[in-house]
Formats: sequence, C-alpha cells, structure tokens
Amino acid sequence: MNRRDFLVNSSLLVSAGLVARAQSAASAPSTPPAPKAPPAPAVTEFRLLRRDVGIFTGRGGTIGWLANKDALVAVDTQFADTVALFLAGLPGRGGRKLDVVINTHHHGDHTGGNAIMKPATHSIVAHANVPKLQFNAAEKAGTLTKQVYADTTFPNVWRREVGGEIVTAQYHGPAHTSGDVIVTFEKANVVHMGDLFFNRIYPVVDRPSGASFRHWITVLEEAAKTYPSDAIYVFGHGSAKYGVTGQRGDLLVFRDYIAALLAHVEKQIAAGEPKAKIAALENLPGFPDFHLPLPNRLSGNLGAAYDELTEKKS
Ligand SMILES: [Zn+2]
Repeated sequence: MNRRDFLVNSSLLVSAGLVARAQSAASAPSTPPAPKAPPAPAVTEFRLLRRDVGIFTGRGGTIGWLANKDALVAVDTQFADTVALFLAGLPGRGGRKLDVVINTHHHGDHTGGNAIMKPATHSIVAHANVPKLQFNAAEKAGTLTKQVYADTTFPNVWRREVGGEIVTAQYHGPAHTSGDVIVTFEKANVVHMGDLFFNRIYPVVDRPSGASFRHWITVLEEAAKTYPSDAIYVFGHGSAKYGVTGQRGDLLVFRDYIAALLAHVEKQIAAGEPKAKIAALENLPGFPDFHLPLPNRLSGNLGAAYDELTEKKS
C-alpha cells in the first residue's frame, strides 16, 4: 500500500462519527460464496488520497469521491444503507447536491445505492451498455423495482471539468463485464478502476454480461501505461492485507494472474481434461497472496476461462 494512502483526515472521521478499521468489510465481492451468518452492519471509512479526492469504504465496491467548495463527485454507490452514510459524511457537503455520480459498471454492489443517490445528485453517468446489463441482472434477481439507472450514457469517453478538477470516464472494452469504465481525476492523479481490478483476490468474471479474460489483460496493460507513474489507483475490491488502493505495479500482478489462469486452462484443455476436473483446482500455483480455502472463486474463474477458450467463434 502506498504511503500517501495513509493521509487519513482523522478530524473528518471524528466529526462524521465514523470509525476507521481494516479494509475487509469493504472487500466483500459482488458474488461471494454464501455467508454462514448474516453480514454484520457495515463499518465505514472516509480516506483522503490526494488533492480533494478520496475513497469511502463500507460494503460493496469502493466509492471514489471529489469534494471541495465548488464541486462534489462520486464514483459508484455501493448499497442503500452505506450510501446514506456516505452522503451524510462526505467532507464539506453541507446538504449540497452532487454534481455528478458515475457508475463504473452495473453490478449491484456498485449501483445498489443509486436510488438513494438520485435525489442527491444532478446526474448519474455510466457506459452505454450499463442500463441494459443492469436491467437484465435485476430481472433475473427479481429486483427490477429497486433499480435506478444512469440518466447519461456514453460509448467511449465522458469528460467534465468540475471544481478545478478534470474527471474522465473511459471505456476500454470487455473485461470484468462489457460495461466497465476507468474513472480518472486528472489533477489529483487518482485512477478509479472499479471492478477492473481485484487486489490479490480471485476476481468476479461475469460472462453472461459479456466479460472477457483475454481482453481484460489488454485493459490492465492500457491502464498501467496510460497514467503517470505516480498515479494512485483505487480498486473495487481488495484483500484485507493489500486493501483497495495501489500503484502501477499492482496492476501487473493481476494481469499476470489472468495470464497464468488462461495458460493453465489452455494446457489442461490440450491434455484433454474435462471442465469439471479443471475447475476443481483449490488454488492457482504461483499466486499465494490470492489463496483462500474452498469454496473460493477460483473454480468460477477456471470455468469461465474454459468457456472463453472453447467457445465457438460465430
Ligand atoms: Zn462487479
């Protein structure tokens, strides 16, 4: 973790009545193995990263924010309960409406707070594929009535100058889903990766929503070379040990994981192994930081890699 990440504004935490703690609560992925007990109430934290840009962790995907006297921006909305705490504690908000909220993609742990956020923001922005993916997922889950969708969408790049900052959302093609964007705060030099980055944990890969492991490698390489070498990267999820922020080198660790996963599965397919046997591996050798006892998401990763590598080209 980066030293700059520890620039915690403790006075804000105290004034907001919020408690800081380790990142584990913030790291709950969108499709975890079934929990044995009901989840504990979310413990939330605001952390300033650089300039007026910071993160909020609670439950679900990490929220990024810009807060100063001229502008308020949020990246992702977690869930209804935690986004309410976010709105209550956002530094210096004082009842102001947000200028804009960006959804990095459609998953419920990144858009579940949209309904609470909607009356508190002038606009919700997402990639053009997001509303349809969000609708499809909600239809399947029986949660259509709870959905609030982006009012502004774009196919490639969205950019806005606000509060002395330049905020950009950029689509790089299919990876975790087919609607993920990278959001940058250019002057603060902070890059929010959403779920294009899972920090040292097996990722969620949503093939029904158009995910692609192979193109995910390209996206990570683009993200590593596009931004300044001292950029602070914000991650949708991370392990308790590594947390939800990092640097360029971290991106390449995850790139290497996906490349090794695909190479492993390709080799197994070539050896004639069936999908069920390939997907039964407990942990992928070479990535001890990712390791978790079964049930973990590696099996899903292996199965998705198998499907991707064996799918017929139309
Ligand atoms: Zn996701």
